Amino acid sequence: MIIVLKPGISKRSETAVLQEIRKLGYRPHVMRGVARTVIGAIGDELANANLNVLSAQFPEAVESVMPIQKRYKLVSREAHPGAFTIRVRDQLIGGGKFQVMAGPCSVENESQLLQTAQAVKAAGATILRGGAFKPRTSPYEFQGLGEKGLKLLAKARKETGLPIITELLSENHADLVAEYADILQIGARNAQNFQLLIAAARTGKPVLLKRGLSMKIEEWLLAGEYVLANENPNLMFCERGIRTFETYTRNTLDLAAVPIVKHESHCPVVVDPSQGAGRADLVAALCKGAVAMGADALLIEVHPNPAEAWSDSAQQLTLEGFAKLMRELQPFITAAGRE
Ligand code: PEP
Ligand code: MN
Repeated sequence: MIIVLKPGISKRSETAVLQEIRKLGYRPHVMRGVARTVIGAIGDELANANLNVLSAQFPEAVESVMPIQKRYKLVSREAHPGAFTIRVRDQLIGGGKFQVMAGPCSVENESQLLQTAQAVKAAGATILRGGAFKPRTSPYEFQGLGEKGLKLLAKARKETGLPIITELLSENHADLVAEYADILQIGARNAQNFQLLIAAARTGKPVLLKRGLSMKIEEWLLAGEYVLANENPNLMFCERGIRTFETYTRNTLDLAAVPIVKHESHCPVVVDPSQGAGRADLVAALCKGAVAMGADALLIEVHPNPAEAWSDSAQQLTLEGFAKLMRELQPFITAAGRE
């Protein structure tokens, strides 16, 4: 922690602050500037008392108390300086290969899912997405097929060989969803549902954590910390847009979050341009941007007939649209040094 002292305070006040810092278990390191004196308090912030009390205790002497250590530890890059990859069946996420997860927003029926799975595989997708439990804003909208949807996803995996990612909506479903899924998706609406994050971590399956609708990057990293703190190292972050004042897009896709999270954390970063824009016509441009910004994977919604989709119809790509996107994306993936 850094303690900034007010200018012109008495020697006696300064000594009192130093004494209190020692009493709280830290070693004070005094730095005297021209205008101001700053104290670095060295010690374990997790084991010792919180130094924020100094502002209230010495209002005449202490101007501010600032943390220097990051609040997240296990997700931080320092915790894992080398390359980090997550194995999902025979795919590696976070390595040299750029991964594309694609499929419908919701699993609706067998032919819709199998047709999409075959088409996205043929176009080069490496992982199949599909929601069986859907987090809908209105209780009157389609809530997903539940276990029936999970069974269809398992069937699609069997037919195509593509691993599957699907959303875990409730702690009560953790074992059920983990029985079928290769990656558990934690949705934006649940990004700070800490008990759900713990339950997801404990299944042992890789976890993809979406960014919450109004979540700061630090909060997102700290939410991810729950997964690693519960003995599951296989976490990836997924930027899917945040809520802003803008109305031309459903959300504002924060591509700056990609290099920031990659700088702060060793965990792979995925971008979801479909929820990000809410518009199919913007998906290709956002995918190219995501690749250029250093993302490790994309999560894209694709539907055989988007106009008739039971959820998120405006943002899903057609099968042909997805194939075209994959062709256009290839030079960007190569330029980013990935295959
Ligand atoms: C989805 O992927 O279909 C979804 C509901 O995502 P989010 O949680 O990001 O809104
Ligand atoms: Mn969706």
